[in-house]
Amino acid sequence: MSKKDIDWGNLGFGYIKTDKRYVANFKDGAWDEGTLTDDNMITITECAGVLQYAQTVFEGLKAYTTVDGRTVAFRPDLNAKRMADSAARLEMPVFPEERFIDAVKKVVAANVDYVPPYGSGATLYLRPFMFGSSAVIGVKPAQEYQFRLFATPVGPYFKGGAKPLTIRVSDFDRAAPHGTGHIKAGLNYAMSLHAIVTAHAEGYDENLYPDSATRTYVEETGGANIIFIKGNKLMTPKSHTILPSITRRSLEYVAEHYLGMEVEEADIPIAEIGQFDECGLCGTAAVISPVGKIVDHGKEICLPSGMTAMGPKTQKLYDTLTGIQMGTIEAPEGWIVEI
Ligand SMILES: *Cc1c(COP(=O)(O)O)cnc(C)c1O
Repeated sequence: MSKKDIDWGNLGFGYIKTDKRYVANFKDGAWDEGTLTDDNMITITECAGVLQYAQTVFEGLKAYTTVDGRTVAFRPDLNAKRMADSAARLEMPVFPEERFIDAVKKVVAANVDYVPPYGSGATLYLRPFMFGSSAVIGVKPAQEYQFRLFATPVGPYFKGGAKPLTIRVSDFDRAAPHGTGHIKAGLNYAMSLHAIVTAHAEGYDENLYPDSATRTYVEETGGANIIFIKGNKLMTPKSHTILPSITRRSLEYVAEHYLGMEVEEADIPIAEIGQFDECGLCGTAAVISPVGKIVDHGKEICLPSGMTAMGPKTQKLYDTLTGIQMGTIEAPEGWIVEI
C-alpha cells in the first residue's frame, strides 16, 4: 500500500470519495453486524424519517499521522458518547459506543492511504452519522435506522497563518432554552444556513449566538464553541444549550494541567466582552480560530490581540493541543487512539 497521489497541502475542506466506508443497519429492534463497503450511495424510501422529519445526528473527528509515524484518532470515545446522547434526544436507537470506536478503526485502516503524512497540516476527517431510514408519514420515530461512517481527506485549515475573524452578534436564535442546542443534529445546522449566508453577505465570518431566552449572554457560533482569555484565565460560556465541544473540553484541560491557567465556565454577558484580552472559536476542524473583532449591532468590540495574528495565550493553547495531537507533547491517558 502507498499513499494516494494527493497534493495534501492544497486540499480544501470538501468531500472526496475514499475507498471504504462502514455501514450498519438497525431493524426489528437490533443492529446488524455491520460491514465495510465500496458503495458511497444510499437508497432509501422517499418517505424515510430523515427526509420527512430530519431524524438524523452526526459527529466529526479526525485521524492523522503523528510525528513518529503512527496513525491515530483523537478522543473518539467522546464522539461515541456524544452521538449516543444525540441519538437518545431524537428517539433514535443508540449505536453502541464500543462499536462506534471499532468502526472508526476499521474505516481509517481501510483508507490508510488517504491519511495525510505528518507535517502536511492535512488530516483524514471522519464523519459518523445516523438517520431514520424507514417510512414515516405520521409524526413519530422511524422503525429502521442506518449508521454510517465515511472518511474524506481535508487540507490544513489555515493556509498561510490564522487570520483573526470578525463575527457579529446574530439576530437569529440557534438553540431554544429547552431544545436541541446541546446535541449534534443536522436540524441545528439547517436553520443556521440563512444566518450564515446573510452574515457572509454582510462581510462577517461567523454568527455569535446569544442565549435565546434573554439575548444577553454569549453562547457559541453555528459550528464552534467560543473561548475568552483574560490575564491568565480561560473563560467559556456555561450553558445547557451549547454543543459540548470536545476541542473546548480538551483546551480547558490543557489550560489547567499543562499551562497553569485558571479555567472558569460562567455566564458571559455580551455587554462585558470588551474586558477580554483574546477570543477564539474552537472545534475539530480548526482547533482554534482567533477572533479579532465582535460586532454587536453596530458597536465594534476590538480584542486587544488585534487582526493580524493569534493572541499569545491563544497561540500557546493551540500549540499545546496540536502538539499533544501530533505526538510532540505527551498526551493525557486515552486521548490518542492508535489505529
Ligand atoms: C461540532 C460542533 C462544535 C465543535 O465540537 P468539536 O467536538 O470540538 O468538534 C461546536 N459547536 C457546534 C454547534 C457543533 O456542532
